[in-house]
Amino acid sequence: MRKVLVLEDEANIRSFVVINLKRAGYDTLEASSGEEAMEIVKRNPDIRVALLDVMLPGIDGFEVCRRIRADNAKIGIIMLTARTQEMDKVTGLMTGADDYVTKPFSPAELTARVDALYRRTGGEPLLENGVIRQDPFLLNTRNRTMEKNGQRIKLTQVEYSIIKLFMDNPGKALSRDEILESVWGRDYFGEVKIVDVNIRRLRLKVEDDPQNPTYITTVWGYGYKWGF
Ligand code: CA
Repeated sequence: MRKVLVLEDEANIRSFVVINLKRAGYDTLEASSGEEAMEIVKRNPDIRVALLDVMLPGIDGFEVCRRIRADNAKIGIIMLTARTQEMDKVTGLMTGADDYVTKPFSPAELTARVDALYRRTGGEPLLENGVIRQDPFLLNTRNRTMEKNGQRIKLTQVEYSIIKLFMDNPGKALSRDEILESVWGRDYFGEVKIVDVNIRRLRLKVEDDPQNPTYITTVWGYGYKWGF
């Protein structure tokens, strides 16, 4: 399992991070305090990457980082910092951390940083040779093909472009106009309904039950979302 620890005291940020890491194929362990995080690390020596929020009640993220690092040289550590925090302080205390991400961050940015650190800590690459893996899907951006559970799904170029947009933005509500502009281009003169037509066809191809979609969900009155 690709175990990642997420230490964040704010529940909404924590679940946002967890949802996106799960989408990217990671197995997440959650902690809301530094003390809890230390316990989890002790019980799970196979954790490969830890995301540590800096500002916490009780012991802060830097102290957690220092303590984890004291016992474990191999684990990858990414600090989650707020924009308002002085970067001098952050970088000065970064000695034990491998990377830091500034809030607010996009799911794509966060996943890219975790992927990079995961690879550096010796894990099998999640994104190799232009492959995006979001279980059970695999998108090959070189030859523009998609697989679900290892089975090839035949996509038109437009469908591929929509899926690529979704996989680059897991969990994010995308408006019909946004999808139209991104896939068909700004100069497209047709109707935005073309988006719905393609989504309907895509659901037949990617969903387990197209009548009850779970991968491409509808955001009523707005657009669509990939997952959750
Ligand atoms: Ca915090």
